[in-house]
Amino acid sequence: MAGRINIRGVNFDSVTFDEAVGRLTGALETGTRTALFTPNSEIVQACLDDPSLYEVINSAELITPDGIGVVKAGRILGTPFPGGRVAGFDLGRELIRRLDNMKKPDGGRYGVYFLGGKPGVAEAARDKLLEEHPNVLFVGCGDGYFKKEGPETDAVIEKVNASGADVLFVCLGAPTQEKWIAANRDRMPGVTLFLGLGGSLDGYAGIVKRAPKIFIKLGLEWFYRLCKEPWRIKRMMKLPVFYFGTWKYRFTGK
Ligand code: UDP
Repeated sequence: MAGRINIRGVNFDSVTFDEAVGRLTGALETGTRTALFTPNSEIVQACLDDPSLYEVINSAELITPDGIGVVKAGRILGTPFPGGRVAGFDLGRELIRRLDNMKKPDGGRYGVYFLGGKPGVAEAARDKLLEEHPNVLFVGCGDGYFKKEGPETDAVIEKVNASGADVLFVCLGAPTQEKWIAANRDRMPGVTLFLGLGGSLDGYAGIVKRAPKIFIKLGLEWFYRLCKEPWRIKRMMKLPVFYFGTWKYRFTGK
């Protein structure tokens, strides 16, 4: 098994995109319970600012770098990522594509549950994906606007368990979704894959467009998002703090 790449305390997996997809499908086939988190540099910086977050983020079995900032940090620290960025949005999308052709040993289909986004977004994402992948078995949908503990969370968990889901997309934004998965995964024993995938359902539903390919290629997706959603500026201020902090860390070890 490939190793880990430690970026300022977060234990990323040293995997390419294809290897990450293989880990997910393999985990499904063997019933190995696996959480996937895809932190970007905002999240790594959030861990540095609040070290209690490390335990949550590092609890996932598969952790891939989502964002050019983390990939750059890998280079700065002399531990480059073999496959560059491995974005959660793309992993979730590819997993759905694979599920269109995958069957359980008993011939049935793996059940997928979409949790997150504003009311109606999960259903819209499901319907869009079904147009292209009609064999995927969606067993449930729910919006992400519930209290993240107490009776409202209990009701969500009951619904997930009753659905018989094997794969649970949890799209509540970071680090809410990571905290929610870490706190509640043991209460959903039938779920094999827990995927913390931020705003992916908005993307699958076609509500939020991804940056044009050229922006992604140039490592400027963050800039595209900032132009579209200027309120992100506060969160994005973590980016330069992370970048310069990583250079400082390289030279001083602190
Ligand atoms: N969201 C949610 N419940 C909440 C807060 C947010 O379901 O309590 C959803 C929101 O509708 C959006 C996603 O979480 O679909 C967050 O998207 P964003 O792109 O901000 O997430 P990131 O991947 O940057 O963390």
